[in-house]
Amino acid sequence: MAVNDTLEPIELTEGELHQQRLVLLDKRERIAGLMRSAEQNSDPDELRVADEMDLSSVGYDQAFEYRLRDRDATLIKKIEKAIRRIDAGEYNYCEECESIIGAQRLIARPETDLCIQCKEKQEHVEKMYEKRRQRMTSFEA
Ligand SMILES: [Zn+2]
Repeated sequence: MAVNDTLEPIELTEGELHQQRLVLLDKRERIAGLMRSAEQNSDPDELRVADEMDLSSVGYDQAFEYRLRDRDATLIKKIEKAIRRIDAGEYNYCEECESIIGAQRLIARPETDLCIQCKEKQEHVEKMYEKRRQRMTSFEA
């Protein structure tokens, strides 16, 4: 095994934290802007026309758009939380186990609040629930 594989994660410096804050603010602005333009684009006249055309496809598109908006809203919440974590001096540390998240990971995923170990654990649990849910729905069918 290479020595690098066991290298301890390092904290972001003050300067890097400041930089991350700017990255997060910028990202939030961009997503908020996208959400605003999506709202402006949903013209009530267009919906009426579509209403006469094909109800089922409109339903699908709207559901799809809501899902996207929902995801954006979740991401904005995560970004705002990350900014609060920077301000509180907690940004370098995993919310779950309080170990250092690591500069590399934070720069790659600025809105993260978990170290890689805790994130993998969380994803594993989510997958288990997902599988269980799929099994249950397939029984119902
Ligand atoms: Zn952790």
